[in-house]
Amino acid sequence: MIDDTGTPVERRRRAESLERTMFALRDAREAHDVLAIVARGLGRDFRRPCVAYEYRDHTFRPVVSSEPLGDRPAIGAGELDLEMLRLRVVMRRDDDDLVAITSDGQLRALFVLERAAAPLPEDDVKYLRAVAAHVALALANALAFDQLRRYAAEGAALTEAARTILGFTELEPLAGSLCRLALRLTLAERACIYAHRGDSLVRIAFAAARHELGPPDRVPLGEIDISRALAAAFGSAPLIVTRLRLPGENSSLDHNGLLVVSRSHAFERADLRMIETLKTLAALAIRNVDLYEQSTNANRALAESNAFKDDLMAMFAHDFKGPLTVISGFSELLFDVDDPEVQHSARTIVEQTRRLARLSEDALTLAATQSAGFSLSRAPEDLAEFVRGAVGPLDRDGRVVVEAPEEPVLIAFDRARLRHVIDNVIGNALKYSSDRVDICIKEDDYEARIEVADRGIGIPSADIEKIFARYGRGANARSRGIAGSGVGLYITKKIVEVHGGRLEVSSIENEGSTFSIVLPFVGLRLAPAIPPGEPGPVPV
Ligand code: ADP
Repeated sequence: MIDDTGTPVERRRRAESLERTMFALRDAREAHDVLAIVARGLGRDFRRPCVAYEYRDHTFRPVVSSEPLGDRPAIGAGELDLEMLRLRVVMRRDDDDLVAITSDGQLRALFVLERAAAPLPEDDVKYLRAVAAHVALALANALAFDQLRRYAAEGAALTEAARTILGFTELEPLAGSLCRLALRLTLAERACIYAHRGDSLVRIAFAAARHELGPPDRVPLGEIDISRALAAAFGSAPLIVTRLRLPGENSSLDHNGLLVVSRSHAFERADLRMIETLKTLAALAIRNVDLYEQSTNANRALAESNAFKDDLMAMFAHDFKGPLTVISGFSELLFDVDDPEVQHSARTIVEQTRRLARLSEDALTLAATQSAGFSLSRAPEDLAEFVRGAVGPLDRDGRVVVEAPEEPVLIAFDRARLRHVIDNVIGNALKYSSDRVDICIKEDDYEARIEVADRGIGIPSADIEKIFARYGRGANARSRGIAGSGVGLYITKKIVEVHGGRLEVSSIENEGSTFSIVLPFVGLRLAPAIPPGEPGPVPV
C-alpha cells in the first residue's frame, strides 16, 4: 500500500477495505469487537502490526492487536500530547503512527500502527481519518449498548439484593448480608459496617474477598474526623463510605453507622451508583428490622399483661365463689326469722349475692375464653332435653314455653359452656321483658337452632352490633336502669363460635327480640337412619 499510494488501483483497494471494515462493524455490539475488527483491518491494509488501546483513567491500555498482543506496556496520558492527538487524529510518535478515536469530545481509544521508517503519505493520513470517524461512531454505539446492558445487569442485581435483604428481622444477619452484597455488586475486596460507639467505630459485620483482608474491627476516632480515621485504618485503598442509620445506641442521630467498601483500584461511577441504591435498600431493611423488633417487644409485653390479667381474673372469680356461697347460705337462714323487715333484707342480700356469683362466673368464663387454651369437652346429647333442663331454674314465674321436635335433636356440645350460653340468652329474655318467652328448637341437615323470642324492650337498631362487644349495652337498657354488665353476650358469642356455630339476633325496639343460637352438626351429629337411596347429610 505504501508503495502504490495514490494510484487508482490503490484508491479502489482502500475504498473496498474501508467498506469491508464498516460492514464488519455493523454487527459489532461490544467495544472490544469494534477495536478488534479495526485493528485487524488496519494491520492488513498497512501490512504492519496494529494494536488497539482503550483509554480509561488517564491511561491507554492495550486491548487487542492484529498480531498476538504480547506484553505491550500501557501508555500513560502524560506520554502523549492529548490535545494535539485529539485535533490531528493521526500523529507520529517515534516509528509508530497513532490514530486517535474521539467521541462526545472524549478520547476513547488509540490505534498504533507500529514500526514504519517513513512517515505516512498524505493520502494514508486522510484514509485513517475517515476510518477514525467511522470507528468513533461504532464505538459510541457499542459503549451505549454496553452501558444499557450494565444498567440491566445492575437492575437485576439490585432486585435480587432487595429480595435478599428485605426479609431480615435481625440486624446482625442483615448487616452481614449487606456487606456481602456490597462486595458482590462492586467487585470490591472488603466491605464492612461500623457502628458509632463512644469515641470509636466498632465493626458489626464484614465481608472480604480473601481471608487475610478482614477490615479493622475498631477504628478509633478521638479528635480526628471520620475520613482521616478511615484513611489511617484502611491505608491508601480507594474507599466508598456511606452513612447508615442503625437501630439501638445513638439511633436518634442522623446517622450512627457507616458502610465502608474498599478495593485496590479506583471505583467508578457505576460502583457509586450501586452503593447509593444499596444504601436506600439498607435504610428500608434496617427500618424493617427496627419495626419488627418494636412490634415483637410490644406483642410480648401485651401477651404478658394479658396473661397476668387473665390469671388475676380467674383467681378473683374463683376465690369469690366460696365466700359468696357462704353469705347466701347464712342469709337464707334469716328467711325463717319472724320479722318481715329482716326477711326483706335477707332476700335482698341473697339476690345481690346471687348476682355477684353470676358476675364472678362470667368473669371466670371470660378469663377462660381469653386464654390460649380455651377448649371444649363435647359429648352427644339431646339438645331439647338440655334446654328444658336449663329453663326450669330460670323460669320462676312460668313465662317460658318450649317447642321442640318430637325426635331427640342429637348434637355434641360442651355441657357446662352451652349451659352458660342458654342461661344468658334465656335470662336476658326474661330480664328485658315481662311477657311470655318462646323457645323453639329446630334442626335441618346441617345445623340445630335454639330460637329465644321475647316481647320486651327490644334493642335500638344503632346498638345491635354493640351488644356483642365486651361491656356493650343497649341505650334503652341503661336508661331504664335495668342492671347488667354487658359481658354475658360477649362470652356467649365466643362459646357458640368455638362450637363452630353463630349467634344471631333480630330485634325491634319496644316490640321484642329473637336471639338464635345456631350449632352446626359438622361431623358431630349422630348419623340419622338414612333410608336407602336417599342422599345423606353433606359433610361440611
Ligand atoms: P347484660 O344483660 O348483663 O347487660 P349481656 O351481654 O347479656 O349483658 O347483654 C348486653 C346488652 O344487650 C344488654 O345490656 C341489653 O342492652 C341487650 N340485650 C340482651 N338481650 C336482650 C333482650 N332479650 N332484649 C333487649 N335487650 C337485650
